[in-house]
Amino acid sequence: MIKYAEIESENIMKIMSIPEIKKYLSTNGIKPSLPRIKIFEYLNNYKSHPTADEIYNALIDDLITLSKTTVYNTMDLFLKHNIVIQILIEENEIRYDSLTSNHGHFKCIKCNKVYDFKYDLADISIKELEGFSLIEYHTYIKGICKSCNEK
Ligand SMILES: [Zn+2]
Ligand SMILES: [Zn+2]
Repeated sequence: MIKYAEIESENIMKIMSIPEIKKYLSTNGIKPSLPRIKIFEYLNNYKSHPTADEIYNALIDDLITLSKTTVYNTMDLFLKHNIVIQILIEENEIRYDSLTSNHGHFKCIKCNKVYDFKYDLADISIKELEGFSLIEYHTYIKGICKSCNEK
């Protein structure tokens, strides 16, 4: 059974308390039910970029009435309200992230952790995109993370 993954990389979206999550969900037009609060807390505070199955497995001990359908529906709702983004670093799995600002992802092929990194395309000039307006961009890098390299 997968429990809360350890916190990875530096936190670039801050950890939120339960009242803060309630407020955040309400502000974004989402009724803060207990499963929604717990799912968002897991996503945001553990930053492991989990799949829906990992979320389910991590929370089922605390929320015994939780179903996989609830997790999938909640993720759809969060996506619709733009408080999560999907990460499609592998073709066969969808991972979720509560950090919705533009940032890149690095997946370690040894430990399978997904790390966030900050970057801004405004800092880089791309000749082919001169005159274009950039709305959203995704960068996925695969490799071996620092801690695996040091093993
Ligand atoms: Zn690694
Ligand atoms: Zn991320």
